[in-house]
Amino acid sequence: MNSNEIFSAAALVDNAEARRWGIGFIDGSIPGYALLIGDDVVAAAALLADLKQRKILAFVTDESLCAKLQGSGQSLGWESGLVPFDLPTALGFIARVAQIFGGADETDDVLNYARQRLRGFALLLGEPTSERLAEAQSALLLGCPLLITAELPLSEIVQLGVEERGLQIHVPIPELPVAYSPDFSGQVMRGENCGACLTGVELTVTGQDVVDGRVNLIGSDLDVVTQGEQPFALLIEVGGRAMQPDFESVLERQIEAILNDIDGVVHRGQRAIVTLSISQKSIKNGLRLRHLGQILHARLRNEFGNILSRIQINIFTEPAQVQVIRERAQAIYEKRDQRLGNLNDEGTDTFYTCNLCQTIAAGHLCVISPERPGTCGAVDWMDARAAVSIRPVGQNKAVKKERLLDAKLGQWESVNQMVAQESGGARTAYSLYSLMQDPGSACGDFDCITAMLPLSNGVMVVGHGYDGMTPSGMDWSMLYEMVGAGTPVPGFMGHSKRALHRQKFIAAEGGWRRIVWMNHALREELRPALESLAAAAGISGFVDLIATEQNALTEDEIAALLEAAGHPALSMEPMI
Ligand code: SF4
Repeated sequence: MNSNEIFSAAALVDNAEARRWGIGFIDGSIPGYALLIGDDVVAAAALLADLKQRKILAFVTDESLCAKLQGSGQSLGWESGLVPFDLPTALGFIARVAQIFGGADETDDVLNYARQRLRGFALLLGEPTSERLAEAQSALLLGCPLLITAELPLSEIVQLGVEERGLQIHVPIPELPVAYSPDFSGQVMRGENCGACLTGVELTVTGQDVVDGRVNLIGSDLDVVTQGEQPFALLIEVGGRAMQPDFESVLERQIEAILNDIDGVVHRGQRAIVTLSISQKSIKNGLRLRHLGQILHARLRNEFGNILSRIQINIFTEPAQVQVIRERAQAIYEKRDQRLGNLNDEGTDTFYTCNLCQTIAAGHLCVISPERPGTCGAVDWMDARAAVSIRPVGQNKAVKKERLLDAKLGQWESVNQMVAQESGGARTAYSLYSLMQDPGSACGDFDCITAMLPLSNGVMVVGHGYDGMTPSGMDWSMLYEMVGAGTPVPGFMGHSKRALHRQKFIAAEGGWRRIVWMNHALREELRPALESLAAAAGISGFVDLIATEQNALTEDEIAALLEAAGHPALSMEPMI
């Protein structure tokens, strides 16, 4: 068949039928079509369930296959999604739909529209005879690649067609034993209601041999893991023709918003500091970890179908396996963090906003620059840029930094306008580099809290996991309550450990030079990064000037140590 013959067939198509069924391709309810060429009924039977499940329209082009299918009890017709059209009629139908909905008459325009918007593939069932191959050749005019059942595993063939043509298949949200709705996204879990508290790590990677929709659980499920803190790891493996490694962290950060919509599930944190609390009531009602996996699969497939075609979810509660994933994840997080290299804020004209966490903290948003990762530390400038390239109207927005208002604070008029828009008016000014004036807010997902210590003319930084008292007179949980509600609190700020690696961190107040106290474990963990910042300024031994809980727990004790050691904060201008 050539294009003239296809258009002659198109002229014979019933217009009402083309409109009625063609609209499905346009509104996405029909993701694509398959042309079944050949008469191998065994192969056809194996493929039809897969096509049906994915709502792919199948044209059965061989008369004898139609008869065999009907003989085996299959009903044919539009309603069943199995349409008995010979090949010219099927191709003519697609061309007619392209003419109607593409609004074009020229042959090339119609064919181009059909190739781009009405996506299909040809399945050759049985022997690839020269006659069948010639038929399949004509389907190429409409962009349909040929997949031959005699050459490919039957279990893979539809998936290959879907990936080859980039069909976006809608995955229904699975039925759960509890409710699932955005109304639950801000729910709070009180200790006495919690049936399982899992603490662990999550990682998304591009995998090999990913089986779409498979959920693996390695270890005990919620009916066994019920009391006390239990370790867990969530490994999401993804694949797709348009998938890129830069997208992995973007997908990973969606986990919180997706799981928090389940009644009785509260997810907090990111990367290796995740807490997953599940209520006694939901466990009693039958909620299990595999349900969480199924929800993640469906939502990620539906929301990121433009880049993903396969998602496999692996959940580990077996401690040794959790440790293996934790180590693997740590190495990957480090690699991700190194991608920014020496890129600095002066080297780009575009920053990004992120409002993903407004589901748990209304009004909260982050402004992300090369030197300022999001509060959670799991979204940096590269991640936000990748997220915008996947979904230009998603939770991340690009903003050109224009009309500088204050270089020291890091405020631009264009950024402030975007902040006002993305926070729903909750904020009108945002300083990228200040703790004291219009600082960033925090949503509850962060590693560290920095707080001013007015008598020491400096700041303290306390890390997640330190449960002692701090010189501010508050411990982690008191400080967390104060800064983690999404509202900026001048003088206090939740942030990631990564933020402390950059010169721009609270640069308006003097940056790292202001740090006079850290809890010991955090100080030692960040020693290399802080030493390197200080060394770049010609200062050696700076980290040992920072007091810890081991030598000071009050501002008076800190002041005495600063004085004795000659800490640089003493000679800086007053913070307030
Ligand atoms: S903390 Fe900020 S950057 Fe991280 S996901 Fe939430 S809004 Fe985005």
